[in-house]
Amino acid sequence: MPPTIEVSGVRKHFRSTVAVDGLTFTVRPGEVTGFVGPNGAGKSTTMRIILGLDAPDEGEALIDGQPYRSLRTPLLQVGALLDAAAVHPGRKARDHLLWLAHSNGIPRRRVGEVLDQVGLASAAGRRAGGYSLGMQQRLGIAAALLGDPPVLMFDEPVNGLDPDGIVWIRGLMRSLAAEGRVVFVSSHLMSELQDTADHLIVIGRGRLIADTSVSKLIAAA
Ligand code: ADP
Ligand code: ADP
Repeated sequence: MPPTIEVSGVRKHFRSTVAVDGLTFTVRPGEVTGFVGPNGAGKSTTMRIILGLDAPDEGEALIDGQPYRSLRTPLLQVGALLDAAAVHPGRKARDHLLWLAHSNGIPRRRVGEVLDQVGLASAAGRRAGGYSLGMQQRLGIAAALLGDPPVLMFDEPVNGLDPDGIVWIRGLMRSLAAEGRVVFVSSHLMSELQDTADHLIVIGRGRLIADTSVSKLIAAA
């Protein structure tokens, strides 16, 4: 059974702000699921809750039936990109990935493979401090792919990428989904996802507005 992400009845507030207001949805494998809503809608908070970085006030988020913190080998099970890779500027990209692989029991050969996959092989010996935002973004994606995880989550992954990079990441997400993985990707722009996603979860003010396949949406329009 391939895994799913299940968010049920999640609510989260910060002082007087209700960031997530009773959200329920399921993200299934084998398709790209877009998570769309304007800035401040609650997308990052929901993703942080799925990854156990924030605790919900109510409800729960499960990956393959378990909370993220109960997963035995998180990096092997879930690859996540919430921000551009956080790497010490003096560190080389290859060394960063080798360290991540080493500390997570991932074979060294994966480092070369993911560097090729994200197009950073020729820059991997350079210090991350000299990387453009797009290259940092690619490095973050390389880190997410390292463990070959069945579940991938990307929060606004297009930020910082040039037009070629945007085309590339769309293709990457399509192929990861075609391999049967869960691919969950957020954007504040519907236009960024309408050609890439098979399914859309649309939120506003922390609440579900739509949960629909893109083909149904097009047929209804
Ligand atoms: P999105 O990712 O859709 O832009 P966020 O989840 O970042 O939305 O934010 C949802 C709302 O919660 C916003 O009003 C935001 O300012 C607020 N918020 C998010 N994180 C915090 C925090 N750590 N402290 C206070 N308010 C927060
Ligand atoms: P995004 O652009 O992905 O919505 P933000 O830039 O809004 O993310 O937030 C980045 C970080 O700051 C997150 O950890 C978020 O929880 C936190 N944050 C967001 N809004 C606020 C806020 N109003 N007060 C404090 N922290 C916040």
